[in-house]
Amino acid sequence: MSSLPKAPNRRILIVDDEADVLDFLKIYLESFGWQVTLASSSSEAFVQLETAAYFLVLTDIAMPEMDGYEFISKLKDANVQSQVVLMTGFGYNPKHTLIKIYKTIKCPCLFKPFNRVKLAETVQQMYDEYHKDISQDPQTPPSS
Ligand SMILES: [Mg+2]
Repeated sequence: MSSLPKAPNRRILIVDDEADVLDFLKIYLESFGWQVTLASSSSEAFVQLETAAYFLVLTDIAMPEMDGYEFISKLKDANVQSQVVLMTGFGYNPKHTLIKIYKTIKCPCLFKPFNRVKLAETVQQMYDEYHKDISQDPQTPPSS
């Protein structure tokens, strides 16, 4: 896939194989004015990422088609500009894939069931981080 350049936006792409998680996150995050798109698999997510710039990809780890580790690796390979936040229902386990990702890519992780305050704060932080180098001049292409 090809990656879109960074552009100011309020779009969040949420990837999870569980419909009730998607439903909750859409309702909750839209209440803050974020524009939420849902994907039930990594392949759906890749289609969405071709169509618009997202400041944030919020992805589950345990999914049947492609796990979060592979998904994030593909995002990085494709030079997708979005911030990435992981979410998982698993608790902390130093041998878990999640911890490997955390140490390698250093993206934040949210644990289910969600701490709503932490969730809202993390999304705002990712918005600020994504936009901090494009706020001066939205036309400046990313350096390569
Ligand atoms: Mg899952």
